Amino acid sequence: MVTVRERLAAPGPHFSVEFFPPRDDAEESTLWLAIRKLEPLRPAFVSVTYGAGGSRRDRTIRITERIAAETTLLPVAHLTAVGHSVAELRHVIGSYASVGVRNILALRGDPPGEDPSAEWIPHPQGLNYASDLVALTCSLGDFHVGVAAFPDMHPRSPDLESDTRYFAEKIAAGAEYAITQMLFSAQDYIGLRDRALAAGADVPILPGIMPVTSYARLMRIIELSGQRIPTDLAERLLAVQGDAAAGREIGMQHAIQMSHQLLAEGAPALHFYTFNRSKATLEVLAALGMAGTPDREPALQT
Ligand code: FAD
Repeated sequence: MVTVRERLAAPGPHFSVEFFPPRDDAEESTLWLAIRKLEPLRPAFVSVTYGAGGSRRDRTIRITERIAAETTLLPVAHLTAVGHSVAELRHVIGSYASVGVRNILALRGDPPGEDPSAEWIPHPQGLNYASDLVALTCSLGDFHVGVAAFPDMHPRSPDLESDTRYFAEKIAAGAEYAITQMLFSAQDYIGLRDRALAAGADVPILPGIMPVTSYARLMRIIELSGQRIPTDLAERLLAVQGDAAAGREIGMQHAIQMSHQLLAEGAPALHFYTFNRSKATLEVLAALGMAGTPDREPALQT
């Protein structure tokens, strides 16, 4: 079984992509179109987020299994502790293992509902932090675990120092790499990486990239994630509000320029939040010269 760390250790530059579980069959078709367009570019891995509950969770498991069985891609299954007892978590991890999925992104998850600041209440027989889920997963056998990282610190962390300490605990519990929340400045990535390293968390940290193509979208992301406003980007998007093409161009150019900087800084891979579409990711990769080798060419023609 190949691991994410092994993929990242091969000569780069690398990228990876993230998908979310589709809500219905139409969304599932869109997802598969994106998967098939990105597959020939050989992403280091593709990850599938874990839904907030019920049928979305079943779909996460089914899609991840199908990627493992029917594509050449390396799937990473996200798993959250929200609403699960330890027995249920063991069961989900076991069902991934039974179809050969052993790369897991271990997360705590957010409290259910729309309010990101709602109180976190662990399941009575469940786990409290992602570090507990890392430890549980690693204790169950040959699993390779990644975790989340937050360049601006997690919104519930009291300060950067505690945030870094808790991040380092996830690595000490057995996590082999981390993926950041979407970021808008290479400087934020460098700050996080250097803090992690100083705290003894010496693992590959993949920056999360998502071209933000309108002012409204940027504001929504900030509202949901509690991130700092990237002033320059916000001002430029605000200036062209109502002009969709101009907004898209600004967002794409910003993502391309930042990706260049991140790779120059030694980022082990660029992790794209795709929203189950391939177009923007393909455009950034093409601009970076990461879509042009002979066996990557066909993806751009589809
Ligand atoms: P943790 O690392 O447990 O941290 C949560 C909070 O607890 C932080 O403030 C931390 O500082 C604090 N903390 C940690 N340990 C301790 C301790 N010992 N004592 C006191 N405080 C502590 N959500 C989903 O629902 N599904 C997904 O698939 C999903 N995928 C994601 C992928 C990425 C790359 C990222 C960045 C986020 C993802 N999320 C997903 C969102 C994530 O679940 C939330 O942001 C969640 O609030 C934090 O998860 P975590 O794993 O970082 O939690």
